[in-house]
Amino acid sequence: MIDSPMASARLMTYLKELVSIDSVNPDLVPGGAGESRIAAKLAEICAEDFALAVESSAVTPGRPNVIAHWPGSGAGQSLLLTGHMDVVGVADYRGEPFSPKVRDGRLYGRGAYDMKGGIAAILAAICILQENDFHPAGDIWLGFVCDEEYASIGTEALVQRLRPDAAILTEPTDEIISIAHRGFAWVEISTAGLAAHGSDFVHGRDAIRHMAPILERIRSLEEEVYPQIQHPLLGRSSVHASRIEGGTEWSTYPDSCTLWIEHRTLPGDSGDQIVTDWRDFIRNEKKQRQDFDATVHLKLERPPLAIEPTQAIVQALATAHTQCFDNPAPIGASFGWLDSAILVAAGIPTVIFGPKGHGAHAAEEWVDPASVERCAQVIAECCRRWCS
Ligand SMILES: [Zn+2]
Repeated sequence: MIDSPMASARLMTYLKELVSIDSVNPDLVPGGAGESRIAAKLAEICAEDFALAVESSAVTPGRPNVIAHWPGSGAGQSLLLTGHMDVVGVADYRGEPFSPKVRDGRLYGRGAYDMKGGIAAILAAICILQENDFHPAGDIWLGFVCDEEYASIGTEALVQRLRPDAAILTEPTDEIISIAHRGFAWVEISTAGLAAHGSDFVHGRDAIRHMAPILERIRSLEEEVYPQIQHPLLGRSSVHASRIEGGTEWSTYPDSCTLWIEHRTLPGDSGDQIVTDWRDFIRNEKKQRQDFDATVHLKLERPPLAIEPTQAIVQALATAHTQCFDNPAPIGASFGWLDSAILVAAGIPTVIFGPKGHGAHAAEEWVDPASVERCAQVIAECCRRWCS
């Protein structure tokens, strides 16, 4: 481990400051505070505590990214340390979401785990490096982005601005080195009916009932098809109904019904293929029952991610972990979709590594500050190796 009393002392301050700032994503929750205040705090820390050059620019009005630059002497590889500043809503949060409290070695508050702990790890890593008089040969970039919890406009803008040789995304991974996550595809299916008086069974066509074969196919994919296809790190893909809407009143046949379906995808899956499969299914159904009709639309798709464990940045982080703690970090996968898919699609080799905790998007959320400090140590050691 690198000796770093100042980083240890500052880490808890950073963590509490970040969690105490409301940064609920306003596209996810109308009226949410957004990232302006937390961006200003991060810009201040980077400029005043670390003397880094900082740019804060709005991706859309009121939704900034913060980019801090620690210039290298010019001869080394560059590295981006990145994480998102926004958090999900607090309507169902138990307790005070933005008054961080430490109990039994856990720091509680909305965003503590997802992912202000990871941002604090980045800040502490810079503190460790500066405290130990490190001078990078390659550039170190810090990228704090908006909007990961909704449409990822922050990271989309970041990859237009920066092309580092590699990136570490400090989303929470419970200290495993994560190199994969599933993607998702949102599909909307509408069935067509015919509105008629409730007693007019001759003309009335019930669009809600026509959703039955669609729901039955979801069951069969879930129970029979997807369990057969396993990815070594990610397990299987999945599909579920998210929302259904149709009908108007008791005595009228519903003329339409709309179902939202979410597919969670594995490497090799694509939204286009999923939609094609649904269209084939609907065509077959139509052959069997004349009055059946449905349309399919792909509303949003985010690709899955699978990075080779042999990639240089994965190896560098693994070596750094061994250097710090005499044991290699387990290599695994992340639970949900992450901005790493956008970084990798832009050609930036990316690895995901962050602290232990619990309760992302849940009614109670906490991060383990001791784990945040261990992550900071590993990230600092990785920077030292990568950017020398
Ligand atoms: Zn997150």
